Amino acid sequence: MQRQHLAGEMQKIGAKINLSAGDLVGHLNCHYLTNLDLKVANGELAKPKIWDPVLEALAARGAEHEQGYIDHLKSGGLAVTRIDGIGIDSTAVVATREAMARGDAVIAQGALQVGLWNGRTDILLRVEKPSLLGAWSYEVIDTKLARETKANTVLQISLYSDMLSNVQGIAPVVAHVVTPGTNFEPEAYRIADYAAYYRHVRGSLERAIAGPAGTSVSPYPEPIDHCDVCRWRRHCEEKRRADDHMSLVAGISKSQIGELERRGVGTMSALAAVPIPLPWRPDRGAASSYERVREQARIQVEGRTADAMLHEVLPLESGFGLFRLPEPSAG
Ligand code: SF4
Repeated sequence: MQRQHLAGEMQKIGAKINLSAGDLVGHLNCHYLTNLDLKVANGELAKPKIWDPVLEALAARGAEHEQGYIDHLKSGGLAVTRIDGIGIDSTAVVATREAMARGDAVIAQGALQVGLWNGRTDILLRVEKPSLLGAWSYEVIDTKLARETKANTVLQISLYSDMLSNVQGIAPVVAHVVTPGTNFEPEAYRIADYAAYYRHVRGSLERAIAGPAGTSVSPYPEPIDHCDVCRWRRHCEEKRRADDHMSLVAGISKSQIGELERRGVGTMSALAAVPIPLPWRPDRGAASSYERVREQARIQVEGRTADAMLHEVLPLESGFGLFRLPEPSAG
């Protein structure tokens, strides 16, 4: 799947919000992201402009991998029908349905649109299993760079298989993922195994967009892995800085932030001013771990005030840090 197709592209057309696999994956990772995208779709917030050369390079490699797989199919004697364009419009959707109705062997970049949902599949592969189309039907093949197939991929192929079943009248039993270094040997995933999970995430997103904007269950854009590939990352970083949020403290954990908030400590500055020893006993974890992040907050706040990168040397402690290195050996 090329990244440009996975990017969340929530759009409002008339009164209807259109959703894509990117929106589903975004929602799985961060409900705050759904809120922001919904505000863009409703015209309440400008779409963020972001250019990331790493993501561009990954997208280019993803496209190469997809093309490599298509070439592999062609070299095996299969004819490939490519649906033109990159977005979803009625021309692409009709061209895809026509190719499926003809029974074309391989359809690249097939455009599917069902209800609120739309998407472009990397490959639709004809299989000799009867459907409303005739003596054949189709299965979804997605090309992925990641060696390990993650929840995101499973959601995506589940969504596409679901839309496909709507078009052909039967549900594909499996969908496939092709990763690099496998001689283009697709790995099969039984769609029914993930159906409950897929329905749960899809239902959650559909409910989120049906309610008033800003009703996401996620109270705050706390940093997560998905931020690295999210177009909202600058927006969220600025918000955390403006709020002096405790996630700015190096090495602090989510559970520590939660406990500190329950104790009435809401900002990095407030954490820096918590007395040591702690005036309360943590529900989880050792008091010393809270004192460590309190000290970290203190030095960060002092550095911010002094407009300098401050550091302090920790006392030497046997069994910690460089003490854990083995003794030097002669030679
Ligand atoms: S940058 Fe991170 S916190 Fe913000 S919307 Fe994206 S994933 Fe969520």
